[in-house]
Amino acid sequence: MSADPITAMTVLGTAAKIPGIVSSTLSSLKTVREMTKESKDTGLKDQLSDVYNSVLELREALHDLQTENESLRKALELKSNIGRRGEFGYFFQGDETDPLCPVCYQRDSKAVYLEKPVSGNGYVSRKCAVCGYFNQEREGTPVIRRPAY
Ligand SMILES: [Zn+2]
Repeated sequence: MSADPITAMTVLGTAAKIPGIVSSTLSSLKTVREMTKESKDTGLKDQLSDVYNSVLELREALHDLQTENESLRKALELKSNIGRRGEFGYFFQGDETDPLCPVCYQRDSKAVYLEKPVSGNGYVSRKCAVCGYFNQEREGTPVIRRPAY
């Protein structure tokens, strides 16, 4: 299920506030911890410690989400700049003329350039050094050897 752009913007705006909320919550908890230092109420201290640990766990979960979000943002950015064109249906970044490997791009969402074309055995071919994709782009002009009369 995908969110509409307005909902996505609202979610992003809310998400941007979370690190500040976590930070101020930890700060408040530290203050409360200092205030209860002299207390003999071990139940209160244990509860406070549990809350403090939970907020630390939230901070870790937030960090993981931020990392995943950055990765997804990069994947989206990559996708928006890549188009398919040309005789062989290769994918290209922007106006570049070096094609990307279709397998690496479509299967793994990675922009990997195909190696430079190589001529040989009457063919021109390209391959991907990462996944091994290989394509003969076109037949080269066959070399016709005529017997000498
Ligand atoms: Zn590849």
